[in-house]
Amino acid sequence: MFLDARRRRGGASSGPRSLISAVESVTESMSPSATILVVEDEEAISTLICRSLQRLGYRCSAVATAGAADTSIAIEQPDLILLDWMLPGRSGFEFARQLKLSSATRAIPLIMITARADEADKIRGLDAGADDYITKPFSVAELASRVNAVLRRAAQRAPSDLIEIEALHIDAAAHRVEAAGVPLSLSPTEYKLLLYLAAHPERVHSRSTLLDKVWGYDAYVDERTVDVHIRRLRRALTPSGCDRLIQTVRGAGYRLSTRD
Ligand code: CA
Repeated sequence: MFLDARRRRGGASSGPRSLISAVESVTESMSPSATILVVEDEEAISTLICRSLQRLGYRCSAVATAGAADTSIAIEQPDLILLDWMLPGRSGFEFARQLKLSSATRAIPLIMITARADEADKIRGLDAGADDYITKPFSVAELASRVNAVLRRAAQRAPSDLIEIEALHIDAAAHRVEAAGVPLSLSPTEYKLLLYLAAHPERVHSRSTLLDKVWGYDAYVDERTVDVHIRRLRRALTPSGCDRLIQTVRGAGYRLSTRD
């Protein structure tokens, strides 16, 4: 109500009104279903960030260490990571480098949160692969606009035609798959299934999701069809050892993962 009344009146750009309009413009243009992982050991800050992001419509989860972030990412890959620089144990800097070294997590956009105003640290962070940084203390409006900008840039980034996950190489433009250097001949459905899993690695996909994404909403196929094609796919990948990448998650579905 309050926001609507302000918007209708429009105009002035000072004080709280400019903050409200900044938040409004972010709310209007963001992707509402984006999942954000906050890695921050200071609970008060972590809670504040999550509440602010949730209010803007993002899904948000928070962990306090790099180790806990590893676990969280293995269960579900976030669309964006907000990473505190000063963490107990593995530092934010080390964790950022680790994420950028792995093909499974390299593409996840990363915003560093740093208390240091030192320019050298920010440059070090950006060199480590961070897409942007926020210096504490920051306003909710600044947080929202940076998150939104990084997510928008990530969405505009052309999807890569080449997917390389360990010994598995998929050239989506040419419809070619190689496992350990050997070309595979897959049926069109097996190919689409593998491409979908490889393009969304490290997260679990239910059978019904796979049916929707690979076979299409209109297809009248049984969920067991997915199991049959997964089995064929694994068989094709067995000689290269890449079959271990296609994992069954009991009671949930399937995922493509480099972790055992
Ligand atoms: Ca900290």
